[in-house]
Amino acid sequence: MLVVENVVAGYVEEVNILHGVSLEVRQGQISSIIGPNGSGKSTLVRVICGMLPTREGEVRYDATRLTGTPAHRMAELGIAYLPQERTVFPHLTVEQNIDLGGWTFRRDSARIGRMRRKVYDQFPILADRKNVKGGDLSGGQQKILEVARALMIEPSLLVFDEPTVGLAPIVAKEVYDTLERLRAEGMTVLLVDQNVREAVRIGDHVYVLELGRNKADGARDAFAGDLHALIKDWLQI
Ligand code: ADP
Ligand code: MG
Repeated sequence: MLVVENVVAGYVEEVNILHGVSLEVRQGQISSIIGPNGSGKSTLVRVICGMLPTREGEVRYDATRLTGTPAHRMAELGIAYLPQERTVFPHLTVEQNIDLGGWTFRRDSARIGRMRRKVYDQFPILADRKNVKGGDLSGGQQKILEVARALMIEPSLLVFDEPTVGLAPIVAKEVYDTLERLRAEGMTVLLVDQNVREAVRIGDHVYVLELGRNKADGARDAFAGDLHALIKDWLQI
């Protein structure tokens, strides 16, 4: 459903960061992108989500050409982008943060209410803390809040850049469990993760980027055996 074809992109004139990257994200699956720091993972998701233009190649989502589609239209297309940086508004309450996810239909209070209840059903921990300031949640809870806020638009595709960076393993597990639960409900996920083991464990298909190029890819089971050799280079052991 999401197709990236030979994408070349970069930030500074004449310096390319992505040198012809291709991938496919299949409906109802979790596709993981792994690769060493600086390999272009975040750059790739910025291109997919319309934050950075392509210099060559294209991105398609179903029948829609995403290349050249501005970032604010992504929500209408059902694409939710969760960037690597924290995006919870620390001084707003949990509920205010969630409601902001429904900004595009903010005048439809019935819909806001309906979606908010749905989100609270899925994440009771947020319902319990709805009046707590976002900044007072733990790191893991803030990530869950970001997911909850993204779900307000009923997306069909979640693009999630490094959701568990800086989280303790037990907290990270909650985030991974959430992604697996969403997949079971039919959600499609593109996950960028520095945690190679987890990315391969929950990914149906895994892509490896290195220096802005595809290095390898495969279905999880075919892939798991090669994993050790692959990450050995990155860890320089
Ligand atoms: P990753 O997410 O895999 O760690 P990035 O996509 O963030 O990698 O970075 C890839 C390369 O692009 C790096 O060399 C980085 O320095 C460069 N880069 C990232 N963001 C910017 C930016 N906003 N402006 C200029 N260069 C950038
Ligand atoms: Mg990154």
